[in-house]
Amino acid sequence: MELIDGKKVAEEIKKEIARQTAEIIDSEKPAPHLAAILVGNDPASESYVASKEKACRAVGFTSSVYRLPENVTEQQLLETVDFLNNDDEVHGFLVQLPLPPHIDPNRVIERINPAKDVDGFHPVNVGRLALGLPSLVPATPAGIMLLLEKYGIETEGKHCVVLGRSNIVGAPVSVLMSRKANPGNCTVTICHSKTENIAEITRQADILIAAIGQPEFVTGDMVKNGVVVIDVGINRVEDSSEKGYRMTGDVDFKTVSPKASYITPVPGGVGPMTIVSLLLNILKAYRGEVK
Ligand code: NDP
Repeated sequence: MELIDGKKVAEEIKKEIARQTAEIIDSEKPAPHLAAILVGNDPASESYVASKEKACRAVGFTSSVYRLPENVTEQQLLETVDFLNNDDEVHGFLVQLPLPPHIDPNRVIERINPAKDVDGFHPVNVGRLALGLPSLVPATPAGIMLLLEKYGIETEGKHCVVLGRSNIVGAPVSVLMSRKANPGNCTVTICHSKTENIAEITRQADILIAAIGQPEFVTGDMVKNGVVVIDVGINRVEDSSEKGYRMTGDVDFKTVSPKASYITPVPGGVGPMTIVSLLLNILKAYRGEVK
């Protein structure tokens, strides 16, 4: 079994991004600039935005945060989106989700200029991804593809089973794994909460991507020998440690890893790749590679 070290791969890519950014700045061009819109004071959202800002600073990007109160109207939020769409000094931006219930996230996402949509959630980017055209790809699926590529994992002709069909992970990663490309060219089965006999399906997987948010759902008896396991899940499980909890994936590492040929740990697998893929999207948007 080989551990897929997302942390290490992410560090290498970050160094390369920092090198390219230094070149940009040396040539007296402005640094790539990410803006984030943060609505309200949800601690998880605050911490996600802070880590995105930190990652930007670490590679030499500029970052800024537009804070709006919890009771902001949808119209005011749309006006902030319009402002950033028109601000030439901002190359990419995102609206941190979730939004308060009185705001329709789809309306907000649809208002973002697709060329600045570094989360890759705009229907134009989703459509371009589905058509196999260049696009800004959501960060977590993009990070998974980078890991498969970096580890030289053979995907062509393999059966890839994806657990989860969210717009953020499951759906786009299914498209990427089935597209005519390398990595890709898989036969893909998507499972979700209404799928019957999941274990029968997961046992057929050559590559298993778990993104369901159910701690240690996939156990050793649900996989075959030699499977490649990508565990996207980030779950907090209470325990008797000092912290009172531990983080775990959607895969039971103890029983699955002895059967796996490759497996991502949690933490240190997919997570670090997500942030690095966001940085790569900012660079793409900066260079206008996806207009
Ligand atoms: P969502 O809650 O949006 O989607 C979960 C998906 O899993 C849904 O399609 C749901 O089915 C399916 N599902 C839920 N329970 C089961 C079950 N018991 N059996 C089969 N399918 C099930 O989650 P996300 O996609 O946003 O995230 C998934 C996990 O990945 C979470 O743990 C999240 O924290 C983590 N994550 C990690 C990231 C990283 O950087 N490592 C980034 C993003 C997410 P249905 O559609 O029928 O409801």
